[in-house]
Amino acid sequence: MADVLLSKVRKNYNPAILKDTLRNINLDIKDGDFIVFVGPSGCGKSTLLRMIAGLEDITDGDLMINGTRVNDVPPSKRNIGMVFQSYALYPHMTVFDNMAFGLKLQHVDKKVILERVVKAADILGLEAFLERKPKALSGGQRQRVAIGRCIVQHPSVFLFDEPLSNLDAALRVKMRLEIAKLHQELNATIIYVTHDQVEAMTLADKICVLSPLKTNAESNLEQFGAPLELYNHPVNLFVAGFIGSPKMNFLKGELTKVEDDYCEVKLITGERIKACINASRGSVGDKVILGVRPEHIVKADSPVADGGHVTGKVVVTENLGAEFFVYMESGASEVGSDFTVKSDSELDINSGDEFTVGIPSSACYLFDENGIAFPRTQVYKRS
Ligand code: ADP
Ligand code: MG
Repeated sequence: MADVLLSKVRKNYNPAILKDTLRNINLDIKDGDFIVFVGPSGCGKSTLLRMIAGLEDITDGDLMINGTRVNDVPPSKRNIGMVFQSYALYPHMTVFDNMAFGLKLQHVDKKVILERVVKAADILGLEAFLERKPKALSGGQRQRVAIGRCIVQHPSVFLFDEPLSNLDAALRVKMRLEIAKLHQELNATIIYVTHDQVEAMTLADKICVLSPLKTNAESNLEQFGAPLELYNHPVNLFVAGFIGSPKMNFLKGELTKVEDDYCEVKLITGERIKACINASRGSVGDKVILGVRPEHIVKADSPVADGGHVTGKVVVTENLGAEFFVYMESGASEVGSDFTVKSDSELDINSGDEFTVGIPSSACYLFDENGIAFPRTQVYKRS
């Protein structure tokens, strides 16, 4: 079991070009936490994980495991187990031997190896497959063997790099639940990389959102917090747009009234929205971006539509049975992006229709011209 602390960690693969991949990464990971690194492809998630594992040098900063600085400790001495996207099993070995291999190399006692492999197989539901070769297993079973190989080492930290991205959608959901159960059983510190924000929301105690590093940015760690903290209080437009599915709608406008517990925004379409936001660090006339999540939009005549209304032209509707989506065009949206509405009930509308929806004032998010969030004074709860 272990605490992991990253302090001012920087990574530069190629000092000649002076372009950092990661900058000023500070993370305080407590023993037993399930931490998820999430962010778009190429933002440095794998790099960060590999630095923790010791497979990649740390350019600057400190990596501490249980209070000891391990920057210069080789991977084999860090007591870390890593599961990759490609399972990298030995095809000619049985499941048992695949799991036992690392322990055999370390000359662990045969009896201990047997005990550990049987225990891991029990946790992972692999007892019936111990004599099989990997080619006789499904994708999900192979992934479990890769996890088993890691468990038998009794690592103090588990690192997972997109372990489910090679599986089909249904199996991904099943394995996601199994990984959550595994965390409960092992009570281990887990650091898990994914670009899938649903995996991040469902698995994590805390999510670390990374973005591709911009040249002059202080850091590319956008926010580190509990899933609902990120959902309810994203610190900026990047996190707001990344966490939540479908994505948050953004509408352009300007501040027309600023009070302590609410403000009013006039959208560029002329529609006025009252938002439960403390915009007191801004001023009337400032350009702002109003955010509303698709799942928080209500019918135009709903009593909770106290924030105002938005009208647009319906582009497409999607009926998924349990959910109904409307994609519409609003003059206040960014060019090329739709205004998305998620409804629990079927709506009697068609492409080309004009459609008006209601916005609860407590469902609003607000960002300044630089994309930094203003504090919300209320958080909408769906009834
Ligand atoms: P992610 O896992 O978030 O998709 P990576 O950590 O793999 O991102 O990569 C982050 C950036 O670092 C990318 O721009 C990638 O091209 C670069 N990179 C990764 N590995 C190396 C390497 N060994 N040498 C140079 N650049 C690398
Ligand atoms: Mg990666």
